[in-house]
Amino acid sequence: MKPKTKFQKQVAEQSKRLAPITRKQRDWAFQNCLEHQARRLKNGKLTCLECGHSWAGGHTLAESICSCTCPHCQAELKVIDTRKQSFKQAEYYGIYTVCGSFQVLRYFFLEKHCRVGSPARLHCREVVQHWIAPNGKCAIMARSRSMNVLYYDVWNWSSALEIRQERQAHLVSPVAVYPHKRFIPEVKRNGFRGNFYGLLPRNFFRNILTDSRMETLLKSGQIGLFRYFSVERSKDIADFWASIRICIRNKYAVSDASLWCDYVNLLRFFGKDLSNAKFVCPTDLKAEHDRWMLKKQTWNKHQKREERRKQLLQNEQAYSDLKANFIGLEFSEGKLHIRVLKDVNEFYEEGNTLKHCVFTNEYFLKPDTLVFSAQIDGQRIETVEVSLESFQVIQSRGLFNQNTEFHDQIVSIVNRNVHLIRERMTA
Ligand SMILES: [Zn+2]
Repeated sequence: MKPKTKFQKQVAEQSKRLAPITRKQRDWAFQNCLEHQARRLKNGKLTCLECGHSWAGGHTLAESICSCTCPHCQAELKVIDTRKQSFKQAEYYGIYTVCGSFQVLRYFFLEKHCRVGSPARLHCREVVQHWIAPNGKCAIMARSRSMNVLYYDVWNWSSALEIRQERQAHLVSPVAVYPHKRFIPEVKRNGFRGNFYGLLPRNFFRNILTDSRMETLLKSGQIGLFRYFSVERSKDIADFWASIRICIRNKYAVSDASLWCDYVNLLRFFGKDLSNAKFVCPTDLKAEHDRWMLKKQTWNKHQKREERRKQLLQNEQAYSDLKANFIGLEFSEGKLHIRVLKDVNEFYEEGNTLKHCVFTNEYFLKPDTLVFSAQIDGQRIETVEVSLESFQVIQSRGLFNQNTEFHDQIVSIVNRNVHLIRERMTA
């Protein structure tokens, strides 16, 4: 890809001044990134896969040894028992350096092909460079990738290192990095002390160079939060910054960042003061988190019930259509007053007072039964369901579905007045 932006042109131009990998850097890579092996056959014969030399091993398999030294090239070798003839290893290797004002992260693809009887063939080819400007702006110089879906690491060796659109494959994790590393002063100024805390170096540098809050987290030792906001790019650090500042001021190290952010969101939900150390710096984060979580769950349940209630109350018309003839029907004996529930809202009141399911189970939509409330002095005592087919009491229940002391009396009053229901059927 031809460099298009001014920045890309600048990188492409500067990259011409980047020195090729040195002999020393290359040798270090082959020494430290890949295994050195000797193949051993059942008869004990050893073959150095580095130089190809073979010799009779003094050991039998029973005394299984795991390493040896090649008498020809003096390489320290790991012994592998196999009849295989050819071997292949591949790894990524990194060199971190400076070019002009840029931080440059260089990645090489190492390959070693070994064949019994021949010296190993080694390849070290540069595949990706991350160029990071002091202001955190990044560009990628890379070879192109072959369009082979079967293999993960397929670089197109005939392509050149040039400016390319960033792809996942460009974010390389090397098995080792050359120990002599160079860094631009800006990353040291912004808190880098040699530890990437498990993050990709490119992302680490970009974050501390572009976001002063990330720099602050790093410098104040809030590594948990630093890592969390580096990885969770969808989370907006601004939402938590006021609380984070309180943590830093109180020297409160956030141990579990994702739990803490969850917790702060719960506090936010309940309208708590997010810049109050009492809330945002809990001694036992897990316990506080769980406590507020429980509150939220209770709130959700309540909310759901409330929604369901609103939804059910929409059935007012359906109820009055079904039971228009019966509404207003009532009869009394002694202090007991029994009457048809007048609307859906009253089903809610009835269910809510007596803690049963006359409302939630939609009794108001049942076409072939009629529901009464038996009351004394306006107090709900039992709820009575009467069949409109057999004109018998199906059930009569008080608080928590229990019978009350008035139960038998209520049932017999209803039975005595069934003719009033019948009359309304034909009305
Ligand atoms: Zn050898």
